[in-house]
Amino acid sequence: MSIAFIDLKAQQTRIRDKVEAGFQTLLDHGAYIMGPEIAALETRLGEWTGVAHNISCSSGTDALLLALMGLELQPGQGVIVPSFTFAASAEVISVMGAIPIFAEVDKISFNLDPEKLPQALAAGKSAGIDIVGIIGVGLFGQPANYTAIGNFARENGLWLIDDAAQSFGATWHGKPVGQLANVTCTSFFPAKPLGAYGDGGAIFTNDDKIAEIIRSCRVHGMGRDKYENIRIGMTGRLDTMQAVVLDAKLDIFADELVHRQNAANRYAALLEGVVSTPSLAAGVTSSWAQYVIQLPQGSNRDAICKSLANSGVPTAIYYPVPMHRQPPYAHYPVSACNLPVTMDLCDHVLALPMHPYLETDQQALIASSLKDALATA
Ligand SMILES: *Cc1c(COP(=O)(O)O)cnc(C)c1O
Repeated sequence: MSIAFIDLKAQQTRIRDKVEAGFQTLLDHGAYIMGPEIAALETRLGEWTGVAHNISCSSGTDALLLALMGLELQPGQGVIVPSFTFAASAEVISVMGAIPIFAEVDKISFNLDPEKLPQALAAGKSAGIDIVGIIGVGLFGQPANYTAIGNFARENGLWLIDDAAQSFGATWHGKPVGQLANVTCTSFFPAKPLGAYGDGGAIFTNDDKIAEIIRSCRVHGMGRDKYENIRIGMTGRLDTMQAVVLDAKLDIFADELVHRQNAANRYAALLEGVVSTPSLAAGVTSSWAQYVIQLPQGSNRDAICKSLANSGVPTAIYYPVPMHRQPPYAHYPVSACNLPVTMDLCDHVLALPMHPYLETDQQALIASSLKDALATA
């Protein structure tokens, strides 16, 4: 039995005909940049998010960068961001010449802990930084507690970005991702829940002014046409070819989300009492980008991974080193608590194979291999 960490092949058999037909149409019309498929995709994304502006772009990282341009983040200003996240969430703040302030996450949800946000704000203020916003992350597919985070943001005059690179397709108390923050960003990197066959991303917002700036920055700060440059922007467009792939993937996305949830349910039953399994807050759904367990204190994670690999079970560690301990970010402000939950997660998390095509017998093998590994490693 061979087990894929993320199985894009099984998925491709379902969409291959539509993708090939779409590529043929594209080769015929030849509009490789901003072809008609782009507008069609943006309309379809709007059906998912229910927000006014659904703007495709070149990657999840560029989506975040364009969002910060849209919010007119200035050099030297501060943005609160979790340390337990993928590099891009904080990187874009630095690229803008602004300052990430690293905040603590919650051990159960892996996401920003709203109760610890005042500490992050205090850390930034005591360093004399003008803090203007928060980037929350829906890590591993579950949206952060955006009710509490949104309240904190409003009370303190901050804007809020949802980095939903992993959580597109999830919901928070009935509201889809896309509606949970002032601006939401997602990624279409192939391994994400909604992935293309290359890089891609999108930005979602109800704010007309922010959307206008983002659309302009996507094409070098264009004005009425692309040779009138009214601000500094970038090349941030999605390739038409990726829109073709995403259109086919959207046909099966809802069904895939159901299969991901079923796989998560099976893992939870198989691993009960063995390791700490992820659980969702009440009223929340996840897009299950990753299935991340927490190993018991004192376990030898490297040995466990090796043992699993020997049994044919691929694993990954998201994330072994928190952002505030990465050399280029080590000089930025950190909450006074020094992020003990973040540190503990980095030492104990382990991601198991997760995709919509995981089969029951594969998951049984993964669970029994994990039990063996825990007993011997
Ligand atoms: C993948 C990811 C990104 C960046 O997306 P790319 O499309 O790879 O640029 C940003 N934030 C998080 C949390 C991610 O997982």
